Amino acid sequence: MSDTHHISCDCGSVKLTMQGEPKVRGFCHCEDCRDLLKIPYHSVTAWESDQVTFTSGEQEAATFQHPTKRMQRIYCKHCGETLFNTNAMGWRIISQLLIRKCYNDELPEELKSKMHFFYDRRIVDIDDPLPKRP
Ligand SMILES: [Zn+2]
Ligand SMILES: [Zn+2]
Repeated sequence: MSDTHHISCDCGSVKLTMQGEPKVRGFCHCEDCRDLLKIPYHSVTAWESDQVTFTSGEQEAATFQHPTKRMQRIYCKHCGETLFNTNAMGWRIISQLLIRKCYNDELPEELKSKMHFFYDRRIVDIDDPLPKRP
């Protein structure tokens, strides 16, 4: 088990390092994630902004500011992959799917989801043993 994780985008131009334990790891069913990312629910690892640093290629990343919400998408200018998004608290939210891809399709145990949250706002029902929180 490691408390340092490394990820990169599809083309490898942008590399990030995450330090320590994520604040939250779970599945978010809120409408903001759907709106920002166009996905049915978000598999999140949420970090304080200073836990996530660019190892290389910071200048190759671009930021999209949502027109009405205090949320951003940070993506690679070359391959278009979203490296993380931010929420109103300024946390950096990294998809478990991106991490998985960077770890030979195996999400590290210490980053796996512990719950579903904002489950009352869902558009898909989930049949799994994890707790479902409003
Ligand atoms: Zn890229
Ligand atoms: Zn959400």
